[in-house]
Amino acid sequence: MTTDLFATLTTPNGVRYSQPLGLFINNEWVESRENDRIVSVSPIDESEICTVHGAGALDIDDAVKAARQAFEQSWRDTDASIRGDLINKLAQLIEKHADTLAAIETWDNGTAYFSLRISPLTCIPGKTIQAARYEDIPESINVLKYYAGWADKLTGQLISNNPHKLAYTTREPLGVCGAIIPWNFPLSMVAYKVGPALAAGNTMVLKPAEQTPLSALYFAQLVKEAGLPPGVLNIVNGYGRKAGVAIAEHPDINKISFTGSTPTGREIMKLASTTMKRVTLETGGKSPMIILKDADIEQAVQWAHVGIMSNQGQVCSATSRIFVHKDIYDDFIKRYIEKVESAKVGDPFESDTFQGPQVTRSQFERVLSYIECGKQEGATLATGGSAYKNVNGKQGLWISPTVFTNVEENMKISQEEVFGPFVVISKFSTEEEAIQRANNSSFGLGGAVFTQDITKAHVIARRLETGTVWINSSNDADVRVPFGGHKQSGIGHELGELGILAYTTSKSVHVNLASKL
Ligand code: NAD
Repeated sequence: MTTDLFATLTTPNGVRYSQPLGLFINNEWVESRENDRIVSVSPIDESEICTVHGAGALDIDDAVKAARQAFEQSWRDTDASIRGDLINKLAQLIEKHADTLAAIETWDNGTAYFSLRISPLTCIPGKTIQAARYEDIPESINVLKYYAGWADKLTGQLISNNPHKLAYTTREPLGVCGAIIPWNFPLSMVAYKVGPALAAGNTMVLKPAEQTPLSALYFAQLVKEAGLPPGVLNIVNGYGRKAGVAIAEHPDINKISFTGSTPTGREIMKLASTTMKRVTLETGGKSPMIILKDADIEQAVQWAHVGIMSNQGQVCSATSRIFVHKDIYDDFIKRYIEKVESAKVGDPFESDTFQGPQVTRSQFERVLSYIECGKQEGATLATGGSAYKNVNGKQGLWISPTVFTNVEENMKISQEEVFGPFVVISKFSTEEEAIQRANNSSFGLGGAVFTQDITKAHVIARRLETGTVWINSSNDADVRVPFGGHKQSGIGHELGELGILAYTTSKSVHVNLASKL
């Protein structure tokens, strides 16, 4: 059954469910006031899944008004423990609906989900429907539960430095927060924004990426079921240049939390500056991995593989530049190519598939254009280098995992984020050289070092100009540990305590106990 606001759909793995299509404002499903529609296409076969509503400035304004009202009339003053309970309820509902959400993610996003932020030793080898069900969905649940726990633990300071005066600080919510998220981890990104914002007492207007809105819209109906008051969380799909811009420049939004590309992050900063909104930006990367000659080479191969090839390489902190010591270079390359070529590229609903299709045709073409660029720049194509042609007899949006070796620093493929199963590898002679080259980037999101020498590991960790360093792993993450970029990879942090503090501001109160004028 299809109405303008819901469609009954069946995912390719047979899950039948009701897909919301409208804008979720004030706990109700409404139509786009500007009558905008966006077709959601599956990257698996480029077929149309459904048509959803797209918000314009008028809709965003409605959502902001609802969020403002909810902030002032209920949420800000709701007992913090009750806020935590409601966020926990939301996490439980994701758990209850996990199979449906996982199937929606795979269908809409085509992927491999959250394959990077876990140990390759513990993860399920195929990074597709299992990854969504057993890794991505639990991650979303964990983030919500973690921040539910923080809701009643935000405290200020008591500052009393003489008998006549007392001062204290309180942590206050910012107000209405706007969240703009990308398509690579659609549901996890929702949890990253919603958990800390709501726990701290803010209300929110969240815009999913127009390419992958379906899991966020399904999640929205759980918001009402969990019992969150109307207006606390509004989820409005729409194009970046329309709904995204309307959020970034809306005068009654107090903070923008954005995850996406660096150029869009810059645009958002400009738009947000007119009303001096707080901004948190999680943007792009070209993260280095340095492999010293004493490294456990087999472990380095495994991590270097998941570090870039998981999620089709569509991971902001993917370790996409690998520097290998010259003494182990040939051995590493041989084992690495074997590893890359052994991973199954295929239907993301199949249990042993490691790599699914790129998310959209434009991303697929973008990756192919970087492959051509690498060939023209004179790097050595060690494997891959074209579209992958044998998936179910169709060409589709799959890319052969691609490795370029003998890559020079000044090549475009060394400097620009490709966001695909595409890695550049080069050799170094000294550690100093490796560090210099690793830091030769406008990005600074993640960095990895492989060595068995604990001192060298920490010295290099200190010198890498990145927000996160992994020693003997790649893209390991933990909800309790802050994640954020240096340089042009972002401003501020998500996860951990810093993640919730970013949704608060401090107020100082001076109390005059005895001084009289
Ligand atoms: P994108 O910047 O094109 O889009 C991200 C979001 O911004 C989408 O919701 C889009 O609709 C919106 N948007 C686009 N233009 C806008 C504008 N002018 N004003 C307001 N909103 C606008 O990025 P993408 O292609 O969806 O995602 C890929 C990028 O995201 C990569 O560069 C990747 O590195 C980055 N990313 C970063 C992190 C991180 O945590 N650092 C995580 C995931 C993805």
